[in-house]
Amino acid sequence: MTRQIHLGSVAIGGDAPIVIQSMCNTKTTDAEGTLAQIRQLADLGCQVIRVALPAFSAMSSLERICAESPLPVVADIHFDARLALEALSAGAHGIRVNPGNLRDTTAIRQLAQEAARLSRCVRIGVNMGSLSPSAQKRYGMSAEAMVQSALEYLKIFEDAGCQNLKVSLKSSDLRISIEAARRFHAISDWPLHLGITEAGTPMAGTIKSAIGLGVLLLEGIGDTIRVSLTAPPKAEITAAHRILEALGLLPGRPQLVSCPTCGRTRIDLIPIAEAVEAEIDRLMSAGKTIALRKIAVMGCEVNGPGEAADADLGIAGGNGTGTVFKFGKPVQHCPENELLPVLLAEIHAAAKLPIRASKSSGKPW
Ligand code: SF4
Repeated sequence: MTRQIHLGSVAIGGDAPIVIQSMCNTKTTDAEGTLAQIRQLADLGCQVIRVALPAFSAMSSLERICAESPLPVVADIHFDARLALEALSAGAHGIRVNPGNLRDTTAIRQLAQEAARLSRCVRIGVNMGSLSPSAQKRYGMSAEAMVQSALEYLKIFEDAGCQNLKVSLKSSDLRISIEAARRFHAISDWPLHLGITEAGTPMAGTIKSAIGLGVLLLEGIGDTIRVSLTAPPKAEITAAHRILEALGLLPGRPQLVSCPTCGRTRIDLIPIAEAVEAEIDRLMSAGKTIALRKIAVMGCEVNGPGEAADADLGIAGGNGTGTVFKFGKPVQHCPENELLPVLLAEIHAAAKLPIRASKSSGKPW
């Protein structure tokens, strides 16, 4: 169990659900466009948003974004600690820095003191390409060097009294990223942000991220995630939901199990599965949780009854007909054209507004 920290109103670590992040691809100088994208991502279930802060010229725009954003805003800063200091003054709820490319130790200490004074969140983002010189000298380009770099930088922020710290350890090599996260988690209770950097285009990047994040999340490692994709940011939120859903880590969202169809399938199954998935998406986007653990959409009697019976809700197709299962028991046999309406009615009956919604977005996730 990691310690719990706060980024604006969002809890990260401890017993909090995994937090989904993304990053705007708008220019931060364009406050209007950036806010529009943040609102769109918030509606899709994003909980924390990061914006690039490459220059002082974006500071007044950042101030407006932080004031009007429905999500906590993290300013992403490289090379110049003074940018991070000003971002805190501009109201950034958090900053992401890589001390490995800030270099100026005095400026980093000043930044740490200011973040502590304002109780703001700092993500210490260590990349293989910018390790601490001493860690690199001792451990080479390795997972251990990333961990030691993080510990070295953490100490500066801990000594200044920062309470809201998280760490990311990123390499484009999946194995090194996983090993670094495991090693760090074994010796530190600061929350970990997980992401596979430069993961790629939507299909390839989602698969790579699902492997890297999935391995760690299944081991109980990781408190917040970003699925980095070469795609519009909304694709990152969809991918993050799919990954967490597959791992059973998305509160209020049932896992959808559906068969691939084959020569035995005697109903038009694919549109039924797609319609069920779309309705789950729609209800979740409307801020509902669905009190079902698993929904099974199965084509025939081979695996259908078994999978459907193991689900809270399911169908097993027959010859132009199907059987509906609820909590392991067949409850209804009906013609094919009634299967989807029956499923949707049951899903609606199980959908409700969440007991504990995120303060930032009103969403259950
Ligand atoms: S559940 Fe039946 S229809 Fe679906 S893939 Fe398996 S054998 Fe084929």
